Amino acid sequence: MLAPVPGVDYPQTWNEFLDWFPTEEACLAFIERLRWPQGFTCPVCGANEPPYRASRLRLMCRRCRHQASVTAGTIFEKTRTPLRVWLAGAWYATNQKLGVSALGLQRVLGLGSYQTAWTMLHRFRRAMVRPERDQLHGLVEVDETYLAITDRQSSATAKGRKSRTTKVLVVMAVEIHEPKGFGRIRLHRVSDESAANVIPFVQEVVDSAATVRTAGSAAYLGLKALGYGHERKVMLGAGDAAHVSMPGVHRAASLMKRWILGTHQGSVQPDQLDFYLDEFAFRFNRRASRSRGMLFYRLMEQVVQTPPVTYADVARKRRP
Ligand SMILES: [Zn+2]
Repeated sequence: MLAPVPGVDYPQTWNEFLDWFPTEEACLAFIERLRWPQGFTCPVCGANEPPYRASRLRLMCRRCRHQASVTAGTIFEKTRTPLRVWLAGAWYATNQKLGVSALGLQRVLGLGSYQTAWTMLHRFRRAMVRPERDQLHGLVEVDETYLAITDRQSSATAKGRKSRTTKVLVVMAVEIHEPKGFGRIRLHRVSDESAANVIPFVQEVVDSAATVRTAGSAAYLGLKALGYGHERKVMLGAGDAAHVSMPGVHRAASLMKRWILGTHQGSVQPDQLDFYLDEFAFRFNRRASRSRGMLFYRLMEQVVQTPPVTYADVARKRRP
């Protein structure tokens, strides 16, 4: 597949963005092209022929007469928010280096309700995990870190109750480039640091031909038997600092904590944490993207492949 071309496949600046998306029709045309780069393909009979068009939104398969729509089956399905607002939201969320809070998004888009902004951001987060994402390769550091998060939203509704701060354990895997630098990361919340939690995570996200570097924890001792190379960095004392022996996970953990504290003021509902971790990984893994427009394009590409999520789904506890 060819790399998307700036200015041809996506706008590069806010001014270009405004030229690209003056109307709902223009937004629909963009979404249609992203969704079916080879032209409309009927979801029922698989025909790849130009459809009949009742409108910019409504399409009909020439072969089986199935009535499709450009947004059906995506997170835009049945939305009452104009697509221009959705795209502007995606643009804003990807153009802020550290992302955006729901309150910030509500303000900048002039949305009537906080809930609309909150739901929009959560729908984007659902699209930030690539379903077919590849495993990490080479040398991979794996470690756990505690994250302190404050559930301010639910405490605000239950008047008089103080906000509750919870500590959650997150296991991280970071590709290490040699001689220096980091590649991609994967994150996952676990209930404790036992082998039963951390080993399945490694198996899911790290290629079995990789070498895994961990701290001294015995939980990872089973990796060798599973075919992984395993390098243990046993820390002997305070002088053996984590940023020296495990620089990748140390760096990822400190950026993640700063992001939660800065962009979100530490306020993340514990049940939603998995999706915040997805967003952080999406941003971290694309931090080298030179163009912000490219990040917008990558998000939109994934958005059109993400099935609809209702408000109830978004508010539901944890990932299914
Ligand atoms: Zn068809």
